[in-house]
Amino acid sequence: MHQDDCIFCKISKGEIPSTKIYEDEDVLAFRDIHPKAPIHFLIIPKKHIQSLAHAEPEDSALLGKMLSLTRQLAIQEGALNGFRVIINTGSDGGQEVDHLHIHVLGGPQPWNK
Ligand code: AMP
Ligand code: ZN
Repeated sequence: MHQDDCIFCKISKGEIPSTKIYEDEDVLAFRDIHPKAPIHFLIIPKKHIQSLAHAEPEDSALLGKMLSLTRQLAIQEGALNGFRVIINTGSDGGQEVDHLHIHVLGGPQPWNK
């Protein structure tokens, strides 16, 4: 199910351009438009799920697939010395786009110095 005004559903349908780094029937990964690290991409389900708090038990395989993809894509993108995984959830969780997404950030960081 898509939500007509959801920016990530539009990206998933190709109605808004993105720099895709991975796609299959369930999942899409693309670079964050305002990267906060040298490597910063997002992994989203193609299915509209508002947030992690809205995921249902039947979504657990999809969530597992997305989490598993973090390491594959982090390595593919060149994050060879580790990476951060962030899922902002709800307004108090700092979520701005209401379509579940996993942030993956990597590359040299000040907190590693
Ligand atoms: P969040 O605060 O967790 O909801 O993060 C939303 C993220 O989506 C932010 O890091 C934005 O930079 C990113 N974002 C918003 N619009 C786009 C877009 N059109 N393409 C790629 N990333 C986007
Ligand atoms: Zn959506």
